[in-house]
Amino acid sequence: MSQRPSTLTPAFLDRLVARVPGTDGRTWKLTEVYTGEVLAELPQSSPTDIAGAFDASREAQKIWGSWPLKRRLAVLKKFHALVLENQMLITDIIQAESGKNRRMAFEESCDVPMGTSHYIKRAPKVLGDKKRPGPVPVLSYSNEVRRPKGVVGIIAPWNFPFATGISDTIPALIAGNGVVVKPDNKTALSPLFGVELLEQAGIPRGLVQMVCGEGPDVGPTFLASADYVMFTGSTATGRIIGELAGQHLIGCCLELGGKNPMVVLPDANIDEAVKGALFGAFGNTGQICMHIERLYIHDSVYEEFRDKFVAATKALRIDATYDFGPEIGSLVSPDHKDRVASHVDDAVAKGAVVLTGGRARPDLGPAFYEPTILEGVTAEMIAGKTETFGPVVGLHRYSTVDEAIALANDTDYGLNASVWGQDVDNAMSVARRIDSGNVNINDILATAYASKGTPSGGLKNSGVGARHGDQGLLKYTDAQNIAVLKKQVMGPQGTQTYDAYAKQTTLSLKLMRKFGIR
Ligand code: NAD
Repeated sequence: MSQRPSTLTPAFLDRLVARVPGTDGRTWKLTEVYTGEVLAELPQSSPTDIAGAFDASREAQKIWGSWPLKRRLAVLKKFHALVLENQMLITDIIQAESGKNRRMAFEESCDVPMGTSHYIKRAPKVLGDKKRPGPVPVLSYSNEVRRPKGVVGIIAPWNFPFATGISDTIPALIAGNGVVVKPDNKTALSPLFGVELLEQAGIPRGLVQMVCGEGPDVGPTFLASADYVMFTGSTATGRIIGELAGQHLIGCCLELGGKNPMVVLPDANIDEAVKGALFGAFGNTGQICMHIERLYIHDSVYEEFRDKFVAATKALRIDATYDFGPEIGSLVSPDHKDRVASHVDDAVAKGAVVLTGGRARPDLGPAFYEPTILEGVTAEMIAGKTETFGPVVGLHRYSTVDEAIALANDTDYGLNASVWGQDVDNAMSVARRIDSGNVNINDILATAYASKGTPSGGLKNSGVGARHGDQGLLKYTDAQNIAVLKKQVMGPQGTQTYDAYAKQTTLSLKLMRKFGIR
């Protein structure tokens, strides 16, 4: 194992966690995953702290929301540059707190500048007033005006703590909101550093707050205080957040779990599909909401694909080092490793066959688990239907495309899917029949996720709403309809009877349709 990066000094880490309110003195031991050593004592926020954080953000939002968009965007441009200047430090922090390999930590750090850059360019068009015709031609018009919601609450998971904590904060800020972020306790450091960079870039002090604690402790006050909630996490927690949002009559966006399929069509380039499957199944140690847990391969190429995939998986370099060498890192915690292992053990007990992997690697660290390929996974096994969220994938054969589509859709989830075939038109027609919010053709997930101009969200139990695209900015606003009537001409005029007015109205509705006026 290589040394923890020298950038992560106790003084630096203490400075980061000092930002979290915790007036009753409770702390949580945030550890380096590779060693289990404590990195920081993370304050745990009480209900009073949480309500106070929202109040402070609400005060600062009055200033921020009054700034013209151009001035807010100038701050975000500075922030973009600061993230790139500090990219290796961000990578160090993400890696230490999550245990992922350095390549993935670096790629995670790229998500924030990509999203920020997209919205800097797009926001003036999306947030600007839109003038529209009113009901009375010439004499009336309406303005669609976009107003910030107020203070947006962002609840983030541990698998991409910097990306989900900060990338979702950026459009909320651009739209003029204050933000309170609640990260997972395990991975609070990288979003805390993101908040520090936002302040260095020039957001008003207090505008972005962070509170920490176990979800069920934080949730009720958090939801009672927020004007909108952006939640990323499991489907089970998403249901709780949705219920609380309903009680408080606030909007929410829920980005939830998946059990994502990959379909290898008969004409797929097998070498490229194998390379894709390696990332799809094992990237971020299988802890990506959009990663692949079910692989459907056409009969005609099954053996070739399976043999190449198993050989390539055995050759993956798995290690606990802070350099770009390892292709696979650790799982996030020993508890999560036990959960992943329990899915594999259950599958094996019920008849699945392990083609490679299937064991923990305590020699590398307390939460390492080998990339694992299973054959013979059925719906009766936990891994058949439930999201494992680890480096475990099941291989399945199919003989017709209809069968592959039916198998891909045989899930309560609908977050992501991957279709491989050299005839792109054919692959596209397969993609359209898969019930999934994202489908990548000849890629796993990055092409869809990094297309920041297109909304990305889940169908079925994978979510409500979307991030990215114009929708990903507009959801942090309320539409105000400011309508103008230049002269009061509606209703019967002068001595006109209502009969005559009704006839005239019917006629004008007909004519407006005929000439395409309204
Ligand atoms: P989780 O639902 O347990 O926790 C997510 C966050 O919610 C954490 O910050 C947690 O502390 C908080 N939380 C938990 N209970 C809460 C409550 N009652 N009130 C308020 N907050 C609460 O999820 P997890 O295990 O940390 O993350 C993994 C899951 O996230 C997987 O299912 C994965 O697929 C999903 N995920 C989805 C996306 C997406 O964009 N769709 C992205 C990343 C992860």
